[in-house]
Amino acid sequence: MLELKDIKKHYHVGDTTTKALDGVSVSFRRQEFVAILGASGSGKTTMLNVIGGLDNYDSGDMVIDGTSTKTFKDADWDAYRNNSIGFVFQSYNLISHLGIIENVELGMTLSGVSKEEKKHRAEEALQRVGLADHMHKKPNQLSGGQMQRVAIARALANDPDILLCDEPTGALDTETSVQIMNLIQELSKEKLVIMVTHNPELANKYADRIIEFSDGKIMDDSHPHIEGKKGEDFQLKRTKMRFTTALKLSFNNLRTKKGRTFLTAFASSIGIISIGIVLSLSSGFQKQIDSTQAEAMAKYPITIAKTTTDQTANQNQALGSDKAAKTSQKNKNKIVAKISDEDKAQHTNKIDQEYVDYINDINPELSNNIGFTRVVGMNLLRDINGEIKPVKLSNEASDGSLSMMSAMSSMTGMGVSSFPTQLDKQSGNFLAENYKLLSGSYPKADTDVVLIVDANNSTNINSLKNLGFDVKDGDKLDFDKIVGTEFKLINNNEYYTKLPTGNFIPNNDYQAMYDNAENEVLKVAGILRVKQSSTMNLLAPGIAYSNELTAKIVNDNKDSEIVKAQKETETNVMTNEKLDAATKDSTLAYLGGDSIPSNIMIYPNNYKDKDKILDYLDAYNKGKQKEDKIIYTDLAGTMTELTGGLMDAITYVLVAFAGISLVTSMIMIGIITYTSVIERTKEIGVLKALGARKKDITRVFDAETCILGVASGTLGVVIAYLATFPINAILYNMTELKNVAQLNPVHGIVLILVSTVLTMIGGHIPARMAAKKDAAIALRAE
Ligand code: ADP
Ligand code: MG
Repeated sequence: MLELKDIKKHYHVGDTTTKALDGVSVSFRRQEFVAILGASGSGKTTMLNVIGGLDNYDSGDMVIDGTSTKTFKDADWDAYRNNSIGFVFQSYNLISHLGIIENVELGMTLSGVSKEEKKHRAEEALQRVGLADHMHKKPNQLSGGQMQRVAIARALANDPDILLCDEPTGALDTETSVQIMNLIQELSKEKLVIMVTHNPELANKYADRIIEFSDGKIMDDSHPHIEGKKGEDFQLKRTKMRFTTALKLSFNNLRTKKGRTFLTAFASSIGIISIGIVLSLSSGFQKQIDSTQAEAMAKYPITIAKTTTDQTANQNQALGSDKAAKTSQKNKNKIVAKISDEDKAQHTNKIDQEYVDYINDINPELSNNIGFTRVVGMNLLRDINGEIKPVKLSNEASDGSLSMMSAMSSMTGMGVSSFPTQLDKQSGNFLAENYKLLSGSYPKADTDVVLIVDANNSTNINSLKNLGFDVKDGDKLDFDKIVGTEFKLINNNEYYTKLPTGNFIPNNDYQAMYDNAENEVLKVAGILRVKQSSTMNLLAPGIAYSNELTAKIVNDNKDSEIVKAQKETETNVMTNEKLDAATKDSTLAYLGGDSIPSNIMIYPNNYKDKDKILDYLDAYNKGKQKEDKIIYTDLAGTMTELTGGLMDAITYVLVAFAGISLVTSMIMIGIITYTSVIERTKEIGVLKALGARKKDITRVFDAETCILGVASGTLGVVIAYLATFPINAILYNMTELKNVAQLNPVHGIVLILVSTVLTMIGGHIPARMAAKKDAAIALRAE
């Protein structure tokens, strides 16, 4: 069934050529026990390796069942070794990190036998070699004879046609040798067994046929065979190792050297640790910057005031001053009437309904909040212990006499905040989102007002005084004293009396006004405190009410007698004071004749959004006359982007350094895999002898580096995560910033992937080298 035709195999080392096989021609029967005898170095092992397909012959031909092997490709040889050949070596060559059953199963694993079938056949083979009682041991728990039995069982498990034994008893004592020989002889009843030995006694006692070897040539054959006509066509089943098998092999291997694997994983995780820390720091800093930005935005909103200073006008003036100095030379003897630079820079913003609509159209994703301040006076009366007194919703200090003038003075300062209810409809509930309810309820009706307190539950004393509470600095009030407090809102026609002179004065009969059934009732609905998490401290401590209330008052009063009268004259209808255009406007607004806000505050979410909003505001001014332009103030402007850009630069530098350590660990993994390859040379030989393909060998090592990569990545991420705690503690001590370093879970997963991929790349080259290793040489290695 097997015929060697003039097989030659020469080894060239330096200038010398060793003729390991020097024209060997021999045929073997399907079933016989052949012993090959010969001195050491006569070429016996080389012949077995050639027959077993572990080594390629240089010339001649080997014919298996009539099929020439001249045209065999790697895959054919792999399949041939796996299906047709069983190897038994002098030094057993068991894989020490696998259990006995797994060692026996390995060949079947490569040919894709199912799990149950594999186990069944492995147990059967082990029973056959008399190891039924030792099946669950590790190779290193067995005696030499037992190990050789395992090797025989492994060779048998895939039911090969040819059993090749290279000095199987060479390392065993006489008694054990006899047992092994008996076993091999028994197997030779059903297979072709070719056994190399240098023990003529054993050969004579057990073998059917003895071939003597010397210097790569057959000297004598006791029972030669002439191969007859062609046998049946030779069929080979391809082998293939699954990645899970490779993983298992590598995992077991790594498990036997836990300490080293851990150190390797740890050393190569350093790159991942540094990148993890850099990332967690930079994203933490970014978060910090974002929140600082948002806080700055909350403190310094974009402000559009009725009167403002045109910064660009001042700059132009400064640029032109040189020229101005020259011209003044010509006017030596004359006086030049000149508007001061400050006055020139004065700009009155003509905020009208169109502009308010324009502002309201700002993309809500850019700004959480837009505050409008409307200077509307409210005529309010409150029943304080049976006595009706005028009160007001203001934070302004006042001397108690709520005259028109003191009310007017509060216009400029404007101590009352209105919360943006329009925005509630777009972006959830502004108040509930940013303010914690301490008592009462969030406002439900337009006529509900709220008291805003700061983090220490204190509020502006004036707003309490103005509401009619008799308090001194530091006094404490119960919530329920304030919540539920009601006032009556009196409209202008009732509140002001027209004198025969045409002037108006506030009515003095508070009781009568208070009792009027048509009055609107305002109520302090609740007490709210700004949430710690909120960056929108839009509302100053004191009373706050909805924009709708303002709109309502304007609506009620815009056609009142006093408003009509004020519209027609250039003097104040109460004081007869002369009014210019601006003060007339504010007086009218105060009386409820105007709903246009005097002040707009825009709170962008961050600097980027702010820039977009500023672009939007600039777009409004495009092509407009200077006096029609609306000029805003952007206090936070100068801080823009500086911090963010710096952070980016620092992050890049740190990531570059971390990258270098990552590359270093990759090279290290390469070196470690390379050492592992050298260490596992024997295993590679065994795997090849069992029919593993080059690919499978690569896989075993790829699997190993994959495990290492995942391990080092995971270790690195865990360590980086743990490192954030001390880092945060140190940073907190140094900067008072809390939880700066935060490892994003997504970054963690990406880092593990990166580590795995990089280590696999680093280990792949040694893995390829391992796969290319000559199986015959690998098995000769000690
Ligand atoms: P045996 O098994 O009979 O002791 P071998 O088949 O191992 O002999 O070796 C036959 C000859 O081939 C020896 O001289 C040996 O030194 C040589 N040889 C075997 N393998 C190699 C190799 N890889 N490179 C060079 N010479 C080799
Ligand atoms: Mg040998």
